[in-house]
Amino acid sequence: MEQTKILLEEKEMPRKWYNIVADMPTRPGPPLNPKTMKPAAPEDLSPIFPISLIEQEVSDQRWIDIPEEVLEVYALWRPTPVFRAHRLEKALGTPARIYYKYEGVSPAGSHKPNTAVPQAYYNKKEGIKRLSTETGAGQWGTALALACNFFGLECTVYMVKVSFEQKPYRKSMIRAYGADVVASPSDRTMTGRRIRAEAPDSPGSLGIAISEAVEDAASHDDTNYSLGSVLNHVLLHQTIIGLEAKAQMAKVNDYPDIVIGCVGGGSNFAGLSFPFLQDKINGKDIRVIAVEPTACPTLTKGIYAYDYGDTAGFTPLMPMYTLGHSFVPAGIHAGGLRYHGASPLVSQLYRDGLIEAQAYGQVGVFEAACLFAKSEGIIPAPESSHAIKAVIEEARRCKEAGEAKTILFNLSGHGLLDLGAYDSYFAGKLEDYEHPSELIERALAELPKVAVS
Ligand SMILES: *Cc1c(COP(=O)(O)O)cnc(C)c1O
Repeated sequence: MEQTKILLEEKEMPRKWYNIVADMPTRPGPPLNPKTMKPAAPEDLSPIFPISLIEQEVSDQRWIDIPEEVLEVYALWRPTPVFRAHRLEKALGTPARIYYKYEGVSPAGSHKPNTAVPQAYYNKKEGIKRLSTETGAGQWGTALALACNFFGLECTVYMVKVSFEQKPYRKSMIRAYGADVVASPSDRTMTGRRIRAEAPDSPGSLGIAISEAVEDAASHDDTNYSLGSVLNHVLLHQTIIGLEAKAQMAKVNDYPDIVIGCVGGGSNFAGLSFPFLQDKINGKDIRVIAVEPTACPTLTKGIYAYDYGDTAGFTPLMPMYTLGHSFVPAGIHAGGLRYHGASPLVSQLYRDGLIEAQAYGQVGVFEAACLFAKSEGIIPAPESSHAIKAVIEEARRCKEAGEAKTILFNLSGHGLLDLGAYDSYFAGKLEDYEHPSELIERALAELPKVAVS
């Protein structure tokens, strides 16, 4: 019988994260201070981030030690399994060998604790008492609440009001871990109070919630802000996924021809693919595919430019593929894939042709998710299901061409708290949505006028 689960022992867990900046043929330009439009200095970031994370953000050192205290918490669910998808292969009748790295075994149900844990650790070590953050659908808020709890930090989560009201279960998870979760816009910040005065019925948005969380951190000395994707240090922490996966593939004497992940801000995709991209940069012939929704086609239809990380324009500008910071995503069910930009590292790799991008509509994505659930048993998160859709398309091409390629993808989370989305799919209420080009052009016209090299 061929192996189904490929496991590592705890003592085989990687002891260092991989920093791809050391190997990139072109490095992205620096973030810019939004007031001066000059490269942001570490002092610009220190009111809201700890020094150790700012150092990681700008580091070009290839390997960075994972602190012992972080490894101890990782050990609660890491190393995560790699599965060979024998049954999915059979259902598709493909000669391709399909593997997936399963990050849904973390307590929060996704890859996000991989960065929440070190972020809480470094903040605690530098004397911070509380972290503030935003959350949309609630995945990130859950992960940070979990991590703060382990390191004895308080945690305030600004949750987009419409999700706060419509997704009560994530809110309960956040509270179970002892964090404080408030609907945004809230009355805790000047931004929140201003918006509530102007628009008492505002449903909130991720942009507003970010502005509130940043304001909270900037106005309290004992409080820092924490971000769950996009930034270099976040992607760095996630590389433990790909480093483990490499060791697991080696155990069965295999190596992927194609590596696939879904992209919201880019962290789970980067986490799995960067260690393999190191080999690609050094000459290995592999394809790496980033998958996004047609409703939020950042890489496939956005442009490369300096843009703000939030709607209000408070954050530093970053060079990235963007749909414009004023982009308003359609209400698709993959909440984690609705960000207007993509991480600067992922954007640069795309620009340099080291990775490819594909976009799919949500109906085909849920169809793929159900085929996966029926064959492998795991109900995937709607976000992860974008990767599954791309895997199925590649496996079908292998079938047509009679090629036995090895495909590895990141199953970034399970969908057990997204069953409402599955309900909508079964009720035939899901529609594909292609973000209209006119709207993209209008949003792009509002980009800050700064040249990118
Ligand atoms: C948040 C999330 C994503 C998208 O975020 P990235 O930073 O692009 O990884 C994908 N999958 C799951 C399960 C998520 O929770």
